[in-house]
Amino acid sequence: MNDTEVLIIGGGISGLSTASWLAQLGIEVELWEANSRTGGKIRSRKDNGYLTEQAAGILMNFRPQIDHLIDSLDLNESKSPRSKTLRRHIIHQGALTEMPMTIPGIMTSSLWSRQTKLHLATECLIPRRKKAHESVSEFIERRFGREILEKAIDPFIAGTLASDPNQADAAAVLPRLTALESRYGSITVGILIHKILKRRRVNNADTFSFKNGMQTLTDALSDSPNIDIRRNHKAVTIEKTKTGWCATATTFSGERTIRCKHLVLSTPADISAALMATIDKTISDQLKSIEYAPLAIVHYGFDQSQIKHPLNGSGFLIPGGEKYAFNGNLWMSTLFNHRAPDGKVLMTSYMGGARRSEQVGWRDEKLHQTLQQNLKQLLGIKGEAEYQRIDRHQQGLPLYHGAYQKKMEQLKKGLESWQGLHLAANYLGGVSVRERIFQGLQTADRISLTLGSQKKVYLPEQQEGLLST
Ligand SMILES: Cc1cc2nc3c(=O)[nH]c(=O)nc-3n(C[C@H](O)[C@H](O)[C@H](O)COP(=O)(O)OP(=O)(O)OC[C@H]3O[C@@H](n4cnc5c(N)ncnc54)[C@H](O)[C@@H]3O)c2cc1C
Repeated sequence: MNDTEVLIIGGGISGLSTASWLAQLGIEVELWEANSRTGGKIRSRKDNGYLTEQAAGILMNFRPQIDHLIDSLDLNESKSPRSKTLRRHIIHQGALTEMPMTIPGIMTSSLWSRQTKLHLATECLIPRRKKAHESVSEFIERRFGREILEKAIDPFIAGTLASDPNQADAAAVLPRLTALESRYGSITVGILIHKILKRRRVNNADTFSFKNGMQTLTDALSDSPNIDIRRNHKAVTIEKTKTGWCATATTFSGERTIRCKHLVLSTPADISAALMATIDKTISDQLKSIEYAPLAIVHYGFDQSQIKHPLNGSGFLIPGGEKYAFNGNLWMSTLFNHRAPDGKVLMTSYMGGARRSEQVGWRDEKLHQTLQQNLKQLLGIKGEAEYQRIDRHQQGLPLYHGAYQKKMEQLKKGLESWQGLHLAANYLGGVSVRERIFQGLQTADRISLTLGSQKKVYLPEQQEGLLST
């Protein structure tokens, strides 16, 4: 039987980044991935000159730790910055409408009623939350009014998290906003104070992808020196031993069992639940209860001349009250260079999610027909797409629904009884690539400490303030 200090199960961005931070600390780490490729959900494809993403395509960063990782992987030259255009659109009364992004823009926009503008201006007078748990809808409506919920937050939550604001836990989904309310009693006052104290590193905020797609990042992590990556290793059992943990995987050449001091589960919740079933039934049941939203991602390539709209922005999101049958549309070739051949455009639409989960089971023809009809109406498209591709995920994104924060606190409390066991996956602490990498760092630092090392990957004084945590 082999030994290692740390075994990570799952080779998506969560597991890979944890492994990379551990390797930077000089800690011995082996990673098992069930598939023949690492990267998990993240996968970039180059097809007929179009570069598409199966999952994450955009890294919105404000954490210096992510810059540090990109630097250490020597990926700065491979980055592809987001186009400077900051225009964002929503669908309002059936038409594409530009969304104002500045306070003066909001105050003068006809998108918002006088009542909403007054609500925004007097947000600082609204008392703090009294209920223990609030949904995103309850929190936003209380602080900013119903119109902001319906036109801005609902499409944001559905379009970027595949979630339902009526069910999503405000504390888990909007942790920065709820923290500002708890600390300052008001979100606008909190933002103002942070701006005055310059604690928000606005200048460091950076949104980017990579010239060859997001997979550049997972590929570079997989190639990190000092990580022993084992592909086609499907973990089937884990056991507690006197000194640590023991895990068994099925491989092409039979079973492989390994002992480790620390075990990190970076698999989707249902897989971790199954592995935990013989260890701790409560933790296993908590993991099993985590729901996922299915998603269908539809990519279209068109000749520019086929589209009337200039596509001069990042794309658009769709409030639930509008008649269209999808959640949002990103103009990938406007956002980033190298996404489509010269003279062509690439757009990516998101269907399904908690709002319309049944769509993911539709046949290709029905998905295309519904979506193309909608897009033609909204963007003035003539003719058919010259390139099309559908990516489906039955478990697209975990839904932080119900009293999710509390559930996760109970889960973490339960884990304290199991020394050397860690969960690092996107159902815990945020789904974005940024938060996945950050959680990997926190896990690595915790492991390093218990292994008796004083080393930390990233020194605490380099970490940032409340707004960006
Ligand atoms: C459509 C879509 C669009 C997105 N867009 C963005 C975006 O623009 N920006 C952003 O920041 N985020 C985005 N995200 C979120 C982000 O992509 C995911 O949260 C993240 O990639 C999940 O990584 P993970 O490592 O936690 O999980 P996964 O990627 O699911 O990795 C889990 C890994 O575990 C492996 N595994 C499973 N069972 C076993 C086993 N028994 N033994 C060994 N290995 C096993 C799997 O094969 C897989 O490789 C998007 C997600 C989706 C679905």
